[in-house]
Amino acid sequence: MIAENIENGERAGNAALLDGAPVANEIKRQVQAKVVQLLLDHDVRPCLAAVRVGDDPASAVYVRNKIRACEEVGIRSELHAVPESTNAIELLDLIASLNVRADVDGILVQLPLPQAIEEAAIIEAIDPAKDVDGFHPVNVGYLGLGRPVFVPCTPAGIIELLDYYQIEIRGANACVVGRSQIVGRPMAQLLLQRDATITICHSRTRDLAAVTREADLLIVAIGRAGLIGRDHIKPGATVVDVGMNKMADPAEIRGMFGADAKKRLETVAKRGYTLVGDVSPVAANELAGRRSPVPGGVGLLTVAMLMRNTLKAAQLRRNLCLE
Ligand code: NAP
Repeated sequence: MIAENIENGERAGNAALLDGAPVANEIKRQVQAKVVQLLLDHDVRPCLAAVRVGDDPASAVYVRNKIRACEEVGIRSELHAVPESTNAIELLDLIASLNVRADVDGILVQLPLPQAIEEAAIIEAIDPAKDVDGFHPVNVGYLGLGRPVFVPCTPAGIIELLDYYQIEIRGANACVVGRSQIVGRPMAQLLLQRDATITICHSRTRDLAAVTREADLLIVAIGRAGLIGRDHIKPGATVVDVGMNKMADPAEIRGMFGADAKKRLETVAKRGYTLVGDVSPVAANELAGRRSPVPGGVGLLTVAMLMRNTLKAAQLRRNLCLE
C-alpha cells in the first residue's frame, strides 16, 4: 500500500511515502455512493455553497478544486464570487441568505478574507449545522468536548491518512508543530481522542528540535519551507507534512530536494513555482520511517473530507442515516 514513487518525482528512500491519492479516492468513492443513495431513497442532492471574496489566485484555485470535487462525487455546488470591495455587512447578508435556504447544506467561506473584514465575525455568522469547515465556535466546542460533529477538514484528513496506512496512534508520542485554529489545535484534539500523548509546539517553543526529536508521530503545520530538518526527526518516526509553500528559486530548490530536484525545476520552468512542505524531504527520507509528500499528501485529503462533511450536513439536517 505504501507508494514507491509519486508524480512530483520524490522517491521513497528509507522512508515509505504516505501517498494521499488512494486515501482521498476511497473517501470520495464512499461519498459518491452515499450521494447516489440519498438521491434514490430520499430525492435529496447535497449542496455546497462556496463563497470567495476578491481575486486572490491561490483562493481561486482552492475553490475551483473544491467545486471540481463536488462534481466528481455528485454534490451540487454553487460559487458566490464577490468583489474585493465587498464589506462585512454585505458578506453577512450573503451568509444569512445561505443560512435560511433549505436547499443549501454546506457553506464554505474561503479564507483568508480581505484585511478589512473580521474573519471571526463571518465564521460565527454561519449556521453551525452548515459549517462544513468546522470552524464555528459551536463545532470547535463540540470537538473540544470529545463529541465532534463537523471537524476541520485538514486534521480530519490526516487521521484518515494515518488509519489507511495503519499507523498506530494510541499511546504514541505525538508532536504537533503549529497551533492554528484550522490545523494545529484541532489536530491535537483529534490525536488526544485517539489516545496519543500530545505535545503542541509553536513559534515560542524553546529548542524545537529537542521536543520534536522525541516524537513517534510528528505533524508539522507552520508554513515555513523545509524548516524541519535532520535535527528535528526521530529515526523511524512518522512525519506528516501539512505545509504548502511556494518556492521558485532554483538554488533553494536544489538545496531542498538534492538529487530529486529535476522534476521540481521542470515545474518551476512551466508554472513559475513549485509547492514545497515544511519538512526537508531529504532529511525525512533519510531518517523517518514514513513521511507524507508535498504535493500529493495531506492536501488531497482536505478536499475529500470537505465532501464527507457536506454529505454529513445534508444527512444531519434531515435526520437521515445511511448506514
Ligand atoms: P498559520 O495560521 O500561519 O499558523 C502557523 C503556526 O506555525 C502558528 O501556530 C505559529 O506559531 C507556528 N510557527 C510559525 N513559525 C514557527 C517556527 N519557526 N517554529 C515553530 N512554530 C512556528 O498556518 P496554518 O493555517 O496552520 O497553515 C500552516 C501550513 O499548512 C501553511 O503552509 C498552509 O499553507 C498549510 N496548510 C495546508 C493545508 C492542506 O490542505 N494541505 C491546509 C491548511 C494549511 P505561533 O502561533 O506562535 O505564531
